[in-house]
Amino acid sequence: MKENEIRPKQIFDEYLRLCKEDIVKYFSRCSFEHIDCPACENRGSFKFEKDGFFYFLCDKCLTLYVNPRPLKKYFDEYYIDSESTKYWATTFYKETEEARREKLWKHKAALIHEKILKYGDKDYKIVDIGAGYGTFCEEIFKITKDRPIAIEPSVHLCNVIKEKGFEVINHFLEDMDKTMLSDEKKCFTSFELFEHLHDPGFFLKSLKSIMNSGDIFMFTTLSYMGADIQAMQEKSKSVSPPHHLNFFNPKSIVTLLEKSGFEVLETTTPGKLDVDIMNNNKEKVIDNFWKNFIEYSDENEKQEMQDFLVKTKLSSHMMIVARSK
Ligand SMILES: [Zn+2]
Repeated sequence: MKENEIRPKQIFDEYLRLCKEDIVKYFSRCSFEHIDCPACENRGSFKFEKDGFFYFLCDKCLTLYVNPRPLKKYFDEYYIDSESTKYWATTFYKETEEARREKLWKHKAALIHEKILKYGDKDYKIVDIGAGYGTFCEEIFKITKDRPIAIEPSVHLCNVIKEKGFEVINHFLEDMDKTMLSDEKKCFTSFELFEHLHDPGFFLKSLKSIMNSGDIFMFTTLSYMGADIQAMQEKSKSVSPPHHLNFFNPKSIVTLLEKSGFEVLETTTPGKLDVDIMNNNKEKVIDNFWKNFIEYSDENEKQEMQDFLVKTKLSSHMMIVARSK
């Protein structure tokens, strides 16, 4: 899989351009609050600035996070109304759906199914939080033959998912209560959502309140220890405010989950793109080791390096399986 196949450069760059305009519109006059490390509550220190947002790094657990953080209401307005959000929900998802289905979601659905059988059983009801365009729901349904439930706050995306034949709960997870779900055993999933959360601790507390003991939570998010992010730091396209606010890593995410009443069953970084992303963004790679590696190595060596990053949990795409205690 290549970066361009799931994030065509032209579409992604247009999205990033709209984001910059929206930052001025929604965040240039907002109020902020100070926060400590979202994983271990240590007071971090300033690392870099990007597009007017300050990123702090916790020197104890190496979590990167936006601080000070604009109050939640500004993000709510942004996610409901902004042009970049609309572009993402319509143009980006629509234009890339088939490519992403083939390159990303089919594989992801198979992987999730494998993990459910490993840590639960085939009867777990899947509930996908932030289901987006519903492509994961479609692909997992093809495997399990059981319709997952989607949770999706955007009305536009809710309609897309409904048209695909799935039950959708039109809410933010943080506003839900347990009565909104049936009582069967569940596996909650969320993909590329955790890095967006205004308050990850509160999200986990809310999630736990709608889970039964023994239910599973599987999710993917970005790791700050990932090679491409380490090599490019603030120049990385993944460091993209106002969207990506939290960059945990395979160790600090365990701290947060355990503190929130979860037992962590597995942390991996099954990413495929770190080396390809660096290759496509050579001018942004500020680390010498990686800069030279990209120029020096052939395709096979690059693939071996990517495999090594996965093995050592140093890819930026991280996946976690946890169980509610
Ligand atoms: Zn920390």
